Amino acid sequence: MSPFDSASEIAAGVRSGDLKAVDVLEQHLARIDARETEIHAFNLVIADAARQQAAAVDAIVAAGGDPGPLAGVPVALKDNMCTRGVPTTCSSKILADWKPPYDGTVVSLLQRAGAVAIGKTNLDEFAMGSSTENSAFGPTRNPLDTDLVPGGSSGGSAAAVAAGFAPLSFGSDTGGSIRQPAALCGVVGVKPTYGRVSRYGLVAFASSLDQIGPFTHTVADAALALQVVCGHDPHDSTSIAEPLPDYSALLERGVEGLRVGRITDLPAGADPDVAERIEQAFDALAAAGATIVDVEVPAFTYGLTAYYIIAPAEASSNLARYDGVRYGLRVDAPDTHAMYSATRAAGFGDEVKRRILLGTYALSAGYYDAYYGKALRIRRLMADDFAKAYAQADVLLTPSSPSVAFPFGSKTADPFAMYLCDTYTIPANLTGEPGMSVPFGTGQNDLPVGVQVLAPALGEPVMLQVAAELERAATDLTAGGAS
Ligand code: GLN
Repeated sequence: MSPFDSASEIAAGVRSGDLKAVDVLEQHLARIDARETEIHAFNLVIADAARQQAAAVDAIVAAGGDPGPLAGVPVALKDNMCTRGVPTTCSSKILADWKPPYDGTVVSLLQRAGAVAIGKTNLDEFAMGSSTENSAFGPTRNPLDTDLVPGGSSGGSAAAVAAGFAPLSFGSDTGGSIRQPAALCGVVGVKPTYGRVSRYGLVAFASSLDQIGPFTHTVADAALALQVVCGHDPHDSTSIAEPLPDYSALLERGVEGLRVGRITDLPAGADPDVAERIEQAFDALAAAGATIVDVEVPAFTYGLTAYYIIAPAEASSNLARYDGVRYGLRVDAPDTHAMYSATRAAGFGDEVKRRILLGTYALSAGYYDAYYGKALRIRRLMADDFAKAYAQADVLLTPSSPSVAFPFGSKTADPFAMYLCDTYTIPANLTGEPGMSVPFGTGQNDLPVGVQVLAPALGEPVMLQVAAELERAATDLTAGGAS
């Protein structure tokens, strides 16, 4: 169990008047003071604005009002979520000085729910990476062992929760960027169904895959956070207009009678310590009354290849807007074309350039059908395969990450080795279905292992239900002294 207070506990305390939001905030700011130099979870801490916001929350309570379901909960936001007047850099030199003129929908919803934004968290530049080593402002360190990466690309958000800097943070997940760092930092991370959370005000990486979601200490906190940020938004044309279920309703129900799918043709690659924990997770769910069923998802294996065509293709188009004209960095040069080149050469890091090159190539005349068109066909097959699997199973279980947290520099020389981190998370982005990582015991060097729970579109309630059971079983693992 986490040594830190959960968001649910804080909100309940602040709403009832037992806790003051300003005190909760100071406690978290003190933890940031103590460890942030070492961790570098944040690109920016907005202590003064947070103090004002916390005081406003307390004033509402003092006046007999209710500030909302996240009253006084400090929240850290990935630095690709637009915050009005507050720098939103995407950890890129090209946006280093950019201050958006508006708040993203999630940012507004959090504020309206009484949460207190405390800062903007570090990420791999434009969310491209799996270790946060691609940040233009230096890497984030894993709070559990500072020689190791926190995962990525939302490494700052995962580390902020793991270090006790905030009980709740938000990231974006295009190919695993919430679930993988959650696994490596030992926290809960959720990628909701595509369209369930508005992308308005999320700086676009790959628009058909991007989705915002929470990091928390507990499954109950994740449910609470989803209740606040999910919902239809007319500002996002891909937003889903379905009513919201009660995300907390099934958490205590257990898994009796549920069918949990084991993907028999899952791509190999998980380390033995991780694989062993996943087996234990199946056993724990079976012991709690679930039926384990074997399913096949043949296209799963091709997910990585399809993703590394589709995501760069969309990125190459989305990132065309950073041209030194409209906003962000400009490097002056004698003519416009030279200015574009100089700005983009100076403003983007190596991984971003690699993606732009890959994407432009994949979309170019003569290669479009061979690469992009083929990747789209795999995406279609993937959706069909998952639909068949979900006819037999309510949820599927896989590792979130093939390994526990790894040392700095161990994968930076070989981009493909880094891309393999996303093997198990990418399919849910391609299908748009929800997925989450829940901590389940430890592997090598006592580092946390995350189990990924996958569910069909809008299946967040059953996904959270299963995750809650795994959370209970994980407590037993620790209590039982299992290694
Ligand atoms: N690691 C993957 C990538 O680099 C996923 C990133 C993400 O989900 N934002 O593309």
